[in-house]
Amino acid sequence: MKRYHFSLGDSSDGPVGFCAAVYADNPTQAVEKLQASLPEEQVAEPLESDEDGEVEYIASYFNPFKVSEADIDEEYEVCPKCKVDADDQESSVYECSDCGHRWKELP
Ligand SMILES: [Zn+2]
Repeated sequence: MKRYHFSLGDSSDGPVGFCAAVYADNPTQAVEKLQASLPEEQVAEPLESDEDGEVEYIASYFNPFKVSEADIDEEYEVCPKCKVDADDQESSVYECSDCGHRWKELP
């Protein structure tokens, strides 16, 4: 199992950033899981709760169908049992440093 990190938008460079991490066996499955879980809208509370209500609302919008494998910027092998990051190793067999589970990397 792997953890796929999605990066869309960049709040260092622009006003909005968006990232997500999804556990899956392959990039296609990761995209499907994120698409199925992504809300179309996320409403945020304004930081300064202004008593005059001059910031009426803050909402951001997502389009799940536009998320693709190209938005994955990192992938990590993780333990399929406890989802802890796997240590780098030489062979294709991993052993979890946390729970001791052993598994083979998927092709
Ligand atoms: Zn483990």
